[in-house]
Amino acid sequence: MSMHQAVRTPADINMSGWYGILPPPKAYEVLRGHYEADWVIVGAGFAGLAAARRLSQLVPNDRIAIVDAQRVGWGAAGRNSGFMIDLPHELGGDNYAGSKDHDRKRIRMNRAAIEFSASAADEYGLQRFFIRAGKFHGAATDHGLCVLRAFENHLTGLDEPFERLDGQQLKKITGTEFFVGGTFTPGTVMAQPAGFIRGVAEGLSNRVQIFEKSAVISLQTGKSHTVKTAEGEITAPRLILTVNGHLESFGFFKKRLLHVFTYASMTRPLSKREQAALGGEPHWGLIPADPMGSTIRRIGDRIVVRNTFTYNPDMSTSESEINRIGAAHDRSFRARFPMLGEIPMEFRWGGHLCLSLNSAPAFGEVEERVFVAGCCNGLGTVQGTLYGMLAADLAAGSNEPMVAEALNEPAPARLYPEPLMSIGAPVKLWAMQRRAGKEL
Ligand SMILES: Cc1cc2nc3c(=O)[nH]c(=O)nc-3n(C[C@H](O)[C@H](O)[C@H](O)COP(=O)(O)OP(=O)(O)OC[C@H]3O[C@@H](n4cnc5c(N)ncnc54)[C@H](O)[C@@H]3O)c2cc1C
Repeated sequence: MSMHQAVRTPADINMSGWYGILPPPKAYEVLRGHYEADWVIVGAGFAGLAAARRLSQLVPNDRIAIVDAQRVGWGAAGRNSGFMIDLPHELGGDNYAGSKDHDRKRIRMNRAAIEFSASAADEYGLQRFFIRAGKFHGAATDHGLCVLRAFENHLTGLDEPFERLDGQQLKKITGTEFFVGGTFTPGTVMAQPAGFIRGVAEGLSNRVQIFEKSAVISLQTGKSHTVKTAEGEITAPRLILTVNGHLESFGFFKKRLLHVFTYASMTRPLSKREQAALGGEPHWGLIPADPMGSTIRRIGDRIVVRNTFTYNPDMSTSESEINRIGAAHDRSFRARFPMLGEIPMEFRWGGHLCLSLNSAPAFGEVEERVFVAGCCNGLGTVQGTLYGMLAADLAAGSNEPMVAEALNEPAPARLYPEPLMSIGAPVKLWAMQRRAGKEL
Protein backbone atom coordinates (compact mmCIF):
# COMPACT_ATOMS: atom_id res chain seq x y z
CA MET A 1 0.00 0.00 0.00
CA SER A 2 1.41 3.47 -0.80
CA MET A 3 0.29 6.92 0.08
CA HIS A 4 0.63 9.87 -2.31
CA GLN A 5 -0.11 13.17 -0.66
CA ALA A 6 -0.77 16.02 -3.11
CA VAL A 7 1.79 18.74 -2.43
CA ARG A 8 -0.21 21.14 -4.64
CA THR A 9 -3.65 21.25 -6.12
CA PRO A 10 -4.67 23.42 -9.10
CA ALA A 11 -6.35 26.78 -8.71
CA ASP A 12 -6.42 28.52 -12.09
CA ILE A 13 -7.09 32.23 -11.69
CA ASN A 14 -9.12 34.52 -14.04
CA MET A 15 -11.97 33.17 -16.11
CA SER A 16 -10.95 32.35 -19.68
CA GLY A 17 -12.85 34.07 -22.47
CA TRP A 18 -13.95 30.70 -23.82
CA TYR A 19 -15.67 29.93 -20.52
CA GLY A 20 -16.93 33.48 -20.04
CA ILE A 21 -18.82 33.77 -23.34
CA LEU A 22 -20.84 30.60 -22.69
CA PRO A 23 -24.06 30.43 -20.69
CA PRO A 24 -23.67 29.34 -17.05
CA PRO A 25 -22.47 25.73 -16.90
CA LYS A 26 -24.22 22.65 -15.61
CA ALA A 27 -23.17 22.11 -11.98
CA TYR A 28 -21.86 18.74 -10.86
CA GLU A 29 -21.78 17.49 -7.29
CA VAL A 30 -18.94 18.18 -4.91
CA LEU A 31 -17.57 14.86 -3.62
CA ARG A 32 -18.93 14.38 -0.09
CA GLY A 33 -19.01 11.10 1.85
CA HIS A 34 -17.86 7.67 0.71
CA TYR A 35 -18.39 6.24 -2.78
CA GLU A 36 -17.44 2.92 -4.34
CA ALA A 37 -16.75 2.67 -8.08
CA ASP A 38 -15.12 0.27 -10.53
CA TRP A 39 -12.98 3.05 -11.96
CA VAL A 40 -11.91 6.41 -10.65
CA ILE A 41 -10.39 9.05 -12.92
CA VAL A 42 -8.73 12.17 -11.46
CA GLY A 43 -8.83 15.18 -13.83
CA ALA A 44 -11.68 16.15 -16.17
CA GLY A 45 -9.66 17.71 -19.00
CA PHE A 46 -9.17 16.28 -22.48
CA ALA A 47 -7.33 13.22 -21.11
CA GLY A 48 -9.76 12.46 -18.28
CA LEU A 49 -12.90 12.81 -20.38
CA ALA A 50 -11.37 10.74 -23.20
CA ALA A 51 -10.49 8.00 -20.69
CA ALA A 52 -14.02 8.08 -19.29
CA ARG A 53 -15.64 7.98 -22.71
CA ARG A 54 -13.45 5.11 -23.86
CA LEU A 55 -14.16 3.16 -20.66
CA SER A 56 -17.87 3.75 -21.08
CA GLN A 57 -17.54 2.05 -24.49
CA LEU A 58 -15.28 -0.80 -23.33
CA VAL A 59 -16.96 -1.64 -20.02
CA PRO A 60 -20.43 -0.10 -20.29
CA ASN A 61 -21.79 -1.69 -17.14
CA ASP A 62 -18.97 -0.55 -14.85
CA ARG A 63 -19.32 2.36 -12.43
CA ILE A 64 -17.00 5.16 -13.56
CA ALA A 65 -16.32 8.30 -11.51
CA ILE A 66 -14.33 11.43 -12.47
CA VAL A 67 -13.13 13.97 -9.93
CA ASP A 68 -11.80 17.44 -10.75
CA ALA A 69 -10.44 20.11 -8.43
CA GLN A 70 -12.11 22.89 -10.44
CA ARG A 71 -15.30 23.50 -12.39
CA VAL A 72 -15.40 21.37 -15.55
CA GLY A 73 -13.87 23.48 -18.36
CA TRP A 74 -12.24 25.96 -15.97
CA GLY A 75 -8.72 24.46 -16.16
CA ALA A 76 -6.29 24.36 -19.10
CA ALA A 77 -8.71 22.22 -21.11
CA GLY A 78 -11.08 25.19 -21.35
CA ARG A 79 -8.33 27.86 -21.50
CA ASN A 80 -6.43 26.89 -24.62
CA SER A 81 -6.58 28.33 -28.13
CA GLY A 82 -8.58 25.37 -29.43
CA PHE A 83 -6.27 24.21 -32.24
CA MET A 84 -6.70 20.44 -32.45
CA ILE A 85 -3.73 19.82 -34.70
CA ASP A 86 -3.19 16.63 -36.66
CA LEU A 87 0.32 17.50 -37.92
CA PRO A 88 3.66 17.57 -36.09
CA HIS A 89 3.78 20.51 -33.73
CA GLU A 90 7.03 20.55 -31.76
CA LEU A 91 6.84 23.73 -29.69
CA GLY A 92 10.51 23.49 -28.76
CA GLY A 93 11.67 23.12 -32.38
CA ASP A 94 12.53 25.77 -34.94
CA ASN A 95 9.64 25.03 -37.32
CA TYR A 96 7.29 22.53 -35.58
CA ALA A 97 8.80 19.55 -37.46
CA GLY A 98 10.45 16.44 -36.01
CA SER A 99 11.95 13.40 -37.73
CA LYS A 100 9.99 11.88 -40.64
CA ASP A 101 9.21 8.46 -39.11
CA HIS A 102 8.31 9.97 -35.80
CA ASP A 103 6.05 12.54 -37.50
CA ARG A 104 4.23 9.93 -39.63
CA LYS A 105 3.35 7.99 -36.50
CA ARG A 106 2.39 11.21 -34.70
CA ILE A 107 0.04 12.23 -37.53
CA ARG A 108 -1.65 8.82 -37.57
CA MET A 109 -2.15 8.84 -33.81
CA ASN A 110 -3.25 12.49 -33.70
CA ARG A 111 -5.86 11.78 -36.37
CA ALA A 112 -7.18 8.81 -34.39
CA ALA A 113 -7.62 11.14 -31.40
CA ILE A 114 -9.34 13.79 -33.54
CA GLU A 115 -11.76 11.18 -34.89
CA PHE A 116 -12.45 10.01 -31.34
CA SER A 117 -13.30 13.62 -30.41
CA ALA A 118 -15.37 13.97 -33.59
CA SER A 119 -17.47 10.98 -32.58
CA ALA A 120 -18.11 12.65 -29.20
CA ALA A 121 -19.01 15.92 -30.96
CA ASP A 122 -21.50 14.02 -33.16
CA GLU A 123 -22.98 11.98 -30.35
CA TYR A 124 -23.46 14.97 -28.04
CA GLY A 125 -24.44 17.56 -30.68
CA LEU A 126 -21.30 19.69 -30.22
CA GLN A 127 -20.54 20.45 -33.89
CA ARG A 128 -20.62 24.21 -33.20
CA PHE A 129 -17.68 23.75 -30.81
CA PHE A 130 -15.72 21.45 -33.13
CA ILE A 131 -15.16 22.83 -36.63
CA ARG A 132 -13.04 21.16 -39.28
CA ALA A 133 -11.64 24.46 -40.51
CA GLY A 134 -7.90 23.80 -40.92
CA LYS A 135 -5.28 26.23 -39.64
CA PHE A 136 -3.24 29.06 -41.12
CA HIS A 137 0.40 29.69 -40.31
CA GLY A 138 1.29 33.35 -40.77
CA ALA A 139 4.76 34.81 -41.25
CA ALA A 140 5.38 38.47 -40.44
CA THR A 141 9.06 38.53 -41.45
CA ASP A 142 11.54 36.99 -43.88
CA HIS A 143 12.77 34.82 -41.01
CA GLY A 144 9.17 33.62 -40.54
CA LEU A 145 8.85 32.88 -44.26
CA CYS A 146 12.03 30.77 -44.13
CA VAL A 147 10.59 28.83 -41.19
CA LEU A 148 7.38 28.23 -43.15
CA ARG A 149 9.26 27.08 -46.24
CA ALA A 150 11.16 24.55 -44.10
CA PHE A 151 7.84 23.38 -42.62
CA GLU A 152 6.30 23.07 -46.11
CA ASN A 153 9.29 21.03 -47.31
CA HIS A 154 8.81 18.74 -44.38
CA LEU A 155 5.10 18.36 -45.23
CA THR A 156 6.00 17.57 -48.85
CA GLY A 157 8.33 14.83 -47.59
CA LEU A 158 5.46 13.44 -45.54
CA ASP A 159 3.01 13.62 -48.49
CA GLU A 160 0.82 15.95 -46.50
CA PRO A 161 -1.22 18.59 -48.37
CA PHE A 162 -0.82 22.30 -47.76
CA GLU A 163 -1.52 25.53 -49.58
CA ARG A 164 0.97 28.40 -49.85
CA LEU A 165 -0.52 31.89 -49.45
CA ASP A 166 0.94 35.31 -50.12
CA GLY A 167 0.33 38.40 -48.00
CA GLN A 168 -2.68 39.52 -50.08
CA GLN A 169 -4.38 36.13 -49.79
CA LEU A 170 -3.86 36.17 -46.04
CA LYS A 171 -5.24 39.71 -45.86
CA LYS A 172 -8.45 38.51 -47.52
CA ILE A 173 -8.89 36.05 -44.68
CA THR A 174 -7.56 37.97 -41.67
CA GLY A 175 -8.19 41.57 -42.72
CA THR A 176 -4.62 42.56 -41.83
CA GLU A 177 -1.58 43.38 -43.96
CA PHE A 178 0.68 42.27 -41.13
CA PHE A 179 1.55 38.91 -42.68
CA VAL A 180 3.89 38.62 -45.64
CA GLY A 181 2.97 35.04 -46.38
CA GLY A 182 1.50 31.91 -44.95
CA THR A 183 0.69 28.23 -45.20
CA PHE A 184 -2.70 26.59 -44.82
CA THR A 185 -3.02 23.00 -43.65
CA PRO A 186 -6.49 21.43 -43.80
CA GLY A 187 -6.55 18.78 -41.03
CA THR A 188 -6.82 20.95 -37.90
CA VAL A 189 -10.09 21.16 -36.02
CA MET A 190 -10.86 24.51 -34.44
CA ALA A 191 -12.58 23.96 -31.11
CA GLN A 192 -14.32 26.26 -28.67
CA PRO A 193 -12.39 24.50 -25.91
CA ALA A 194 -14.60 25.28 -22.91
CA GLY A 195 -17.76 24.58 -24.91
CA PHE A 196 -16.39 21.28 -26.17
CA ILE A 197 -15.16 20.10 -22.76
CA ARG A 198 -18.34 21.13 -20.98
CA GLY A 199 -20.41 19.49 -23.72
CA VAL A 200 -18.49 16.20 -23.58
CA ALA A 201 -18.80 16.12 -19.78
CA GLU A 202 -22.52 16.77 -19.99
CA GLY A 203 -22.93 14.09 -22.64
CA LEU A 204 -21.05 11.58 -20.52
CA SER A 205 -22.77 12.50 -17.29
CA ASN A 206 -25.64 10.05 -17.67
CA ARG A 207 -23.14 7.17 -17.78
CA VAL A 208 -20.29 8.55 -15.67
CA GLN A 209 -20.50 10.19 -12.26
CA ILE A 210 -18.73 13.57 -12.33
CA PHE A 211 -17.57 15.47 -9.24
CA GLU A 212 -16.18 18.99 -9.53
CA LYS A 213 -14.70 21.54 -7.10
CA SER A 214 -13.24 18.47 -5.38
CA ALA A 215 -9.45 18.62 -5.21
CA VAL A 216 -7.90 15.23 -4.57
CA ILE A 217 -5.53 15.71 -1.65
CA SER A 218 -4.28 12.15 -1.35
CA LEU A 219 -4.23 8.82 -3.11
CA GLN A 220 -3.91 5.60 -1.21
CA THR A 221 -3.00 2.90 -3.66
CA GLY A 222 -3.03 -0.85 -3.02
CA LYS A 223 -5.45 -3.73 -3.50
CA SER A 224 -8.09 -1.12 -3.91
CA HIS A 225 -7.30 2.55 -4.31
CA THR A 226 -8.80 5.42 -2.33
CA VAL A 227 -8.92 8.92 -3.68
CA LYS A 228 -9.52 11.48 -0.90
CA THR A 229 -10.78 15.04 -1.07
CA ALA A 230 -11.44 17.46 1.81
CA GLU A 231 -14.99 16.15 2.25
CA GLY A 232 -15.16 12.73 0.67
CA GLU A 233 -13.49 9.73 -0.86
CA ILE A 234 -13.93 7.20 -3.64
CA THR A 235 -12.64 3.66 -3.46
CA ALA A 236 -12.06 1.74 -6.67
CA PRO A 237 -9.82 -1.12 -7.83
CA ARG A 238 -8.55 0.89 -10.82
CA LEU A 239 -7.33 4.46 -10.93
CA ILE A 240 -6.50 6.65 -13.94
CA LEU A 241 -4.61 9.90 -13.26
CA THR A 242 -5.16 12.50 -15.96
CA VAL A 243 -3.95 15.57 -14.06
CA ASN A 244 -1.27 16.58 -16.59
CA GLY A 245 1.57 18.42 -14.75
CA HIS A 246 -0.03 17.68 -11.39
CA LEU A 247 1.20 14.11 -11.74
CA GLU A 248 4.30 15.53 -10.11
CA SER A 249 2.21 16.93 -7.23
CA PHE A 250 1.42 13.30 -6.35
CA GLY A 251 5.09 12.30 -6.60
CA PHE A 252 5.02 10.77 -10.11
CA PHE A 253 7.59 11.74 -12.80
CA LYS A 254 9.46 13.93 -10.31
CA LYS A 255 12.05 16.22 -11.90
CA ARG A 256 10.91 15.14 -15.36
CA LEU A 257 8.08 17.58 -16.05
CA LEU A 258 8.47 21.20 -17.12
CA HIS A 259 5.75 23.50 -15.86
CA VAL A 260 5.22 26.31 -18.31
CA PHE A 261 2.36 28.80 -18.52
CA THR A 262 1.06 30.56 -21.58
CA TYR A 263 -1.42 33.44 -21.74
CA ALA A 264 -4.31 34.80 -23.78
CA SER A 265 -6.60 37.82 -24.04
CA MET A 266 -10.01 38.07 -25.76
CA THR A 267 -11.52 41.34 -26.97
CA ARG A 268 -14.97 42.57 -26.17
CA PRO A 269 -17.39 42.04 -29.09
CA LEU A 270 -16.45 44.19 -32.09
CA SER A 271 -19.24 46.44 -33.34
CA LYS A 272 -20.55 45.98 -36.89
CA ARG A 273 -18.59 49.12 -37.88
CA GLU A 274 -15.37 47.72 -36.39
CA GLN A 275 -15.92 44.41 -38.15
CA ALA A 276 -16.38 46.24 -41.45
CA ALA A 277 -13.15 48.22 -40.84
CA LEU A 278 -11.35 44.96 -40.14
CA GLY A 279 -12.67 43.08 -43.18
CA GLY A 280 -11.59 39.49 -43.75
CA GLU A 281 -13.53 36.36 -42.82
CA PRO A 282 -15.40 35.98 -39.55
CA HIS A 283 -13.82 32.71 -38.40
CA TRP A 284 -10.18 31.70 -38.67
CA GLY A 285 -7.25 30.53 -36.57
CA LEU A 286 -3.65 31.43 -37.28
CA ILE A 287 -0.55 30.12 -35.61
CA PRO A 288 2.74 31.95 -35.87
CA ALA A 289 5.50 30.91 -38.25
CA ASP A 290 7.87 30.89 -35.31
CA PRO A 291 6.57 28.60 -32.52
CA MET A 292 7.28 31.39 -30.02
CA GLY A 293 5.14 33.99 -31.85
CA SER A 294 1.47 34.98 -31.35
CA THR A 295 -1.51 32.74 -32.06
CA ILE A 296 -4.54 34.70 -33.24
CA ARG A 297 -8.14 33.56 -33.61
CA ARG A 298 -11.18 35.39 -34.84
CA ILE A 299 -14.46 33.95 -33.64
CA GLY A 300 -17.11 36.09 -35.29
CA ASP A 301 -17.18 39.37 -33.42
CA ARG A 302 -14.20 38.72 -31.11
CA ILE A 303 -10.45 38.27 -31.49
CA VAL A 304 -8.23 36.17 -29.23
CA VAL A 305 -4.47 36.71 -28.92
CA ARG A 306 -2.18 34.17 -27.26
CA ASN A 307 1.51 34.60 -26.66
CA THR A 308 4.36 34.39 -24.14
CA PHE A 309 5.57 31.36 -22.24
CA THR A 310 6.82 31.57 -18.65
CA TYR A 311 8.50 28.90 -16.53
CA ASN A 312 6.44 28.39 -13.35
CA PRO A 313 7.73 25.35 -11.45
CA ASP A 314 5.26 26.08 -8.63
CA MET A 315 2.45 25.44 -11.18
CA SER A 316 0.73 28.76 -10.64
CA THR A 317 0.68 32.24 -12.10
CA SER A 318 -0.45 35.56 -10.65
CA GLU A 319 -2.76 38.42 -11.52
CA SER A 320 0.26 40.70 -11.98
CA GLU A 321 1.95 38.25 -14.37
CA ILE A 322 -1.27 37.97 -16.40
CA ASN A 323 -1.58 41.76 -16.58
CA ARG A 324 2.08 42.25 -17.49
CA ILE A 325 1.73 39.76 -20.34
CA GLY A 326 -1.63 41.30 -21.25
CA ALA A 327 0.28 44.42 -22.22
CA ALA A 328 2.27 42.28 -24.70
CA HIS A 329 -1.04 40.97 -26.09
CA ASP A 330 -2.23 44.54 -26.59
CA ARG A 331 0.97 45.41 -28.48
CA SER A 332 0.62 42.33 -30.72
CA PHE A 333 -3.05 43.14 -31.31
CA ARG A 334 -2.37 46.77 -32.26
CA ALA A 335 0.47 45.74 -34.59
CA ARG A 336 -1.86 43.40 -36.48
CA PHE A 337 -5.09 45.37 -36.35
CA PRO A 338 -4.20 49.09 -36.47
CA MET A 339 -7.57 49.76 -38.16
CA LEU A 340 -9.30 48.79 -34.89
CA GLY A 341 -7.52 51.29 -32.62
CA GLU A 342 -7.78 50.61 -28.88
CA ILE A 343 -10.20 47.72 -28.44
CA PRO A 344 -10.32 46.69 -24.78
CA MET A 345 -9.73 43.06 -23.86
CA GLU A 346 -12.69 41.69 -21.93
CA PHE A 347 -10.89 38.58 -20.68
CA ARG A 348 -7.27 37.85 -19.83
CA TRP A 349 -6.01 34.55 -18.50
CA GLY A 350 -3.09 32.14 -18.28
CA GLY A 351 -2.92 28.37 -18.12
CA HIS A 352 -0.61 25.51 -17.28
CA LEU A 353 1.19 23.51 -19.96
CA CYS A 354 3.21 20.46 -19.08
CA LEU A 355 6.22 19.75 -21.30
CA SER A 356 9.12 17.33 -21.17
CA LEU A 357 12.63 17.94 -22.47
CA ASN A 358 12.27 15.15 -25.02
CA SER A 359 8.59 15.94 -25.87
CA ALA A 360 7.59 12.54 -24.47
CA PRO A 361 4.25 11.98 -22.73
CA ALA A 362 3.78 10.51 -19.26
CA PHE A 363 1.88 7.34 -20.07
CA GLY A 364 1.46 3.83 -18.71
CA GLU A 365 0.85 1.83 -15.55
CA VAL A 366 2.89 3.43 -12.77
CA GLU A 367 1.74 1.09 -10.00
CA GLU A 368 -0.46 -1.97 -10.10
CA ARG A 369 -3.80 -0.81 -11.65
CA VAL A 370 -2.74 2.86 -11.45
CA PHE A 371 -2.59 4.32 -14.96
CA VAL A 372 -1.45 7.75 -16.09
CA ALA A 373 -1.93 9.95 -19.16
CA GLY A 374 -0.31 13.36 -18.89
CA CYS A 375 2.45 15.71 -20.01
CA CYS A 376 0.87 16.49 -23.36
CA ASN A 377 3.60 18.88 -24.46
CA GLY A 378 1.37 21.82 -25.27
CA LEU A 379 -0.77 19.85 -27.70
CA GLY A 380 -3.11 18.41 -25.12
CA THR A 381 -6.37 18.92 -26.99
CA VAL A 382 -5.25 16.08 -29.24
CA GLN A 383 -2.54 14.28 -27.32
CA GLY A 384 -4.41 14.48 -24.01
CA THR A 385 -7.33 12.89 -25.82
CA LEU A 386 -5.06 10.26 -27.38
CA TYR A 387 -3.27 9.19 -24.21
CA GLY A 388 -6.43 9.40 -22.10
CA MET A 389 -8.20 7.11 -24.54
CA LEU A 390 -5.20 4.73 -24.66
CA ALA A 391 -4.89 4.70 -20.85
CA ALA A 392 -8.45 3.37 -20.77
CA ASP A 393 -7.58 0.77 -23.43
CA LEU A 394 -4.49 -0.29 -21.50
CA ALA A 395 -6.34 -0.46 -18.20
CA ALA A 396 -9.29 -2.40 -19.62
CA GLY A 397 -6.99 -4.80 -21.52
CA SER A 398 -8.43 -4.00 -24.95
CA ASN A 399 -6.51 -5.05 -28.06
CA GLU A 400 -6.04 -1.51 -29.42
CA PRO A 401 -2.69 -1.63 -31.30
CA MET A 402 -1.79 1.99 -30.49
CA VAL A 403 -1.40 1.00 -26.82
CA ALA A 404 1.79 -0.93 -27.61
CA GLU A 405 3.07 1.99 -29.69
CA ALA A 406 2.42 4.38 -26.83
CA LEU A 407 4.11 2.06 -24.33
CA ASN A 408 7.17 1.90 -26.58
CA GLU A 409 7.64 5.66 -26.54
CA PRO A 410 10.37 7.02 -24.27
CA ALA A 411 9.42 8.37 -20.85
CA PRO A 412 9.85 12.08 -20.12
CA ALA A 413 13.60 12.72 -19.81
CA ARG A 414 15.17 13.91 -16.57
CA LEU A 415 15.42 17.67 -16.20
CA TYR A 416 18.83 19.27 -15.71
CA PRO A 417 19.88 19.58 -12.07
CA GLU A 418 19.22 22.76 -10.11
CA PRO A 419 20.11 25.59 -10.36
CA LEU A 420 20.44 24.92 -14.11
CA MET A 421 16.66 24.58 -14.56
CA SER A 422 15.56 27.60 -12.57
CA ILE A 423 18.18 29.80 -14.22
CA GLY A 424 18.38 28.13 -17.64
CA ALA A 425 14.68 27.56 -18.45
CA PRO A 426 13.58 31.23 -18.15
CA VAL A 427 16.68 32.38 -20.06
CA LYS A 428 16.06 29.84 -22.84
CA LEU A 429 12.39 30.87 -23.10
CA TRP A 430 13.38 34.54 -23.15
CA ALA A 431 15.95 33.91 -25.91
CA MET A 432 13.48 31.87 -28.02
CA GLN A 433 10.81 34.56 -27.66
CA ARG A 434 13.30 37.28 -28.52
CA ARG A 435 14.25 35.35 -31.65
CA ALA A 436 10.56 35.36 -32.64
CA GLY A 437 10.88 39.17 -32.96
CA LYS A 438 7.96 40.64 -34.92
CA GLU A 439 6.25 37.22 -35.03
CA LEU A 440 5.40 37.90 -31.35
C1 LIG B 1 -3.53 29.72 -23.30
C2 LIG B 1 -3.32 28.28 -23.75
C3 LIG B 1 -3.40 27.97 -25.10
C4 LIG B 1 -3.25 26.64 -25.51
N1 LIG B 1 -3.50 26.33 -26.82
C5 LIG B 1 -3.56 25.04 -27.21
C6 LIG B 1 -4.00 24.69 -28.49
O1 LIG B 1 -4.39 25.54 -29.29
N2 LIG B 1 -4.00 23.37 -28.83
C7 LIG B 1 -3.63 22.40 -27.94
O2 LIG B 1 -3.66 21.23 -28.29
N3 LIG B 1 -3.26 22.70 -26.69
C8 LIG B 1 -3.23 23.99 -26.29
N4 LIG B 1 -2.90 24.29 -25.00
C9 LIG B 1 -2.56 23.19 -24.08
C10 LIG B 1 -3.79 22.41 -23.60
O3 LIG B 1 -4.70 23.27 -22.97
C11 LIG B 1 -3.35 21.34 -22.63
O4 LIG B 1 -2.31 20.59 -23.22
C12 LIG B 1 -4.51 20.41 -22.31
O5 LIG B 1 -5.50 21.09 -21.57
C13 LIG B 1 -4.03 19.19 -21.54
O6 LIG B 1 -5.14 18.36 -21.32
P1 LIG B 1 -5.15 17.37 -20.07
O7 LIG B 1 -6.48 16.78 -19.98
O8 LIG B 1 -3.98 16.48 -20.17
O9 LIG B 1 -4.84 18.31 -18.81
P2 LIG B 1 -5.69 19.51 -18.22
O10 LIG B 1 -6.52 20.13 -19.24
O11 LIG B 1 -4.71 20.34 -17.46
O12 LIG B 1 -6.65 18.76 -17.22
C14 LIG B 1 -6.18 18.26 -15.99
C15 LIG B 1 -7.29 18.43 -14.98
O13 LIG B 1 -6.83 17.82 -13.76
C16 LIG B 1 -7.35 18.57 -12.71
N5 LIG B 1 -6.53 18.29 -11.52
C17 LIG B 1 -5.21 18.49 -11.34
N6 LIG B 1 -4.84 18.14 -10.09
C18 LIG B 1 -5.96 17.68 -9.49
C19 LIG B 1 -6.24 17.20 -8.18
N7 LIG B 1 -5.31 17.12 -7.23
N8 LIG B 1 -7.53 16.82 -7.90
C20 LIG B 1 -8.50 16.89 -8.83
N9 LIG B 1 -8.29 17.38 -10.07
C21 LIG B 1 -7.03 17.77 -10.39
C22 LIG B 1 -7.26 20.02 -13.18
O14 LIG B 1 -8.16 20.87 -12.49
C23 LIG B 1 -7.58 19.88 -14.65
O15 LIG B 1 -8.93 20.16 -14.93
C24 LIG B 1 -2.97 25.61 -24.56
C25 LIG B 1 -2.88 25.95 -23.20
C26 LIG B 1 -3.05 27.25 -22.80
C27 LIG B 1 -2.96 27.56 -21.33
